Amino acid sequence: MAHIVVIGGGPYGGTVANRLQKTGAKITLISRSEKALLLPAMIRLPFHKDPSRVSVELKDILNPNIELMIDQVVNVDESQVDLGAHDPVSFDRLVIATGAVWDDPIAPHKYQQNGIQEYAKEVAGLGEKANNIVLVGGGALGVELAGEYAYHFPKKSITLIHSEKKLLDASAIDKVRDSVESQLRGLKVKLILGKKAEIRGQSVFVDGEEVPCDYLIKTTGPKANPPVSSIKGLVNEKNEIIISSKFQAECNPKIYAIGDVTNYPKRGLVSRENWLSIITHNLNEDIKGTSNYRTVDWPKQGVKSKSTFAVSVGPEGGAGQYILPFGCAFSLPRFAVVKAKSSTLFYSKLNSMFI
Ligand SMILES: Cc1cc2nc3c(=O)[nH]c(=O)nc-3n(C[C@H](O)[C@H](O)[C@H](O)COP(=O)(O)OP(=O)(O)OC[C@H]3O[C@@H](n4cnc5c(N)ncnc54)[C@H](O)[C@@H]3O)c2cc1C
Repeated sequence: MAHIVVIGGGPYGGTVANRLQKTGAKITLISRSEKALLLPAMIRLPFHKDPSRVSVELKDILNPNIELMIDQVVNVDESQVDLGAHDPVSFDRLVIATGAVWDDPIAPHKYQQNGIQEYAKEVAGLGEKANNIVLVGGGALGVELAGEYAYHFPKKSITLIHSEKKLLDASAIDKVRDSVESQLRGLKVKLILGKKAEIRGQSVFVDGEEVPCDYLIKTTGPKANPPVSSIKGLVNEKNEIIISSKFQAECNPKIYAIGDVTNYPKRGLVSRENWLSIITHNLNEDIKGTSNYRTVDWPKQGVKSKSTFAVSVGPEGGAGQYILPFGCAFSLPRFAVVKAKSSTLFYSKLNSMFI
C-alpha cells in the first residue's frame, strides 16, 4: 500500500489528507499543533480571547483512518521526513502544506509554546496597554486589523500607514478601495497614504517625523514557511516551494505542495475547491500509475489581476468584490460582506472547511 504523508494541518493540509483517503493509500498527517487554526478569525482573538472561535481539534475533523502525528518536521529529504520527537517517517508521496509565517497578533507559530489561550492573553495585553497603535501596511490584513482595533478601542489612537495612495492593492477595484477608506475614517482611524514608513526598532517614522506609537503592528505580508529540507532546488529565493501547475515540486515529482507555502502567485481560500480537486486528482493518478494529470491556470508574471475577495472593517463593516467568469468586477454590498465574513470571520464554517 502506498504511503502518502501530508505536512501541515491547516485548511489545505487537513482537507487534502481527508480527500486522499479515497486513493486507498495509507495517509499520515503531521502537524506541529493539535489544532487546526482558522487564520481569518485570528484578527478578533485579542478581543474575545476565545480559542474555540479560531480553532478546532485536528482529531475531530480528520477521517478516523488517517494517522495523525503531532510533531515539528525538522527535515525533509527525498524519501523521509525527520521529526523533532518521533522516529523518521518514510513516504512514497509527500504533500507539503505548512503555510506562512505571520507577525503578531496572528502569529500561529508562537502559540505552539503556550497554547492559544496564553497567546490570546499576550496579544490582548499589548493592545490594551497601548494608547497609540500603529499599523504599517494597508493591504487586506492591515485594513482588517485597523478595523478591529478601532472598533474595539474607540478611545485609542489607531494609525494605518500605506505606501499606495489608496488602501489595498491593484487587485481591488476603486469602489472597494474607496469604501474601506471611508469606513476606516468613520471609525476614526488616522490614515497616512502614499507614504513609506521607516521602522527603527519599535519606532515609526514618516518623512523623517516620528509617528506616536506604543504598539507597532507590521502588516506588510506573510513569508512562506517550508519545512527545513536538504533537497536542492525545493524553494526559491523567497523560500517558497517551487511547484508546477500540477502542484508538484519542480525538483521532485514525488513531492507536492499547496497553499501559502508555494510560489503559486494566488493566495487565500477563495479558489481552494479548484486547487484541492486538482492536487487530489493528480495524486490519485500518480498512485494508480496513470498520468492523466490536471493543471491549474498560472497567472502571468507581473500582472495583478482582479480577484474575488472580501475584507472586514470591524464586525459591522466591510467591503468586497466578485469577479465574473469573463473578468467583469462588481462590488459586494456592505451588508452581504458583514453577513458572509465580518460578523463571524467564518468560524461557524470551521468544521465543514476540511471536508
Ligand atoms: C487575517 C487573515 C484573514 C484572511 N482572510 C481571508 C479571506 O477572507 N479569504 C481567503 O481566501 N483567505 C484569507 N486569508 C488567507 C488564508 O487564511 C490562508 O491563505 C490559508 O489559511 C492558508 O492555508 P494553508 O493551509 O496554506 O496554511 P496554514 O493555515 O498556515 O496552515 C499551515 C499548517 O502547517 C503546520 N506547520 C507549519 N510548519 C510546520 C512544521 N515544520 N511541521 C509540522 N507542521 C507545520 C501549522 O501548524 C498549520 O497547521 C486570510 C489570512 C489572514 C491572516
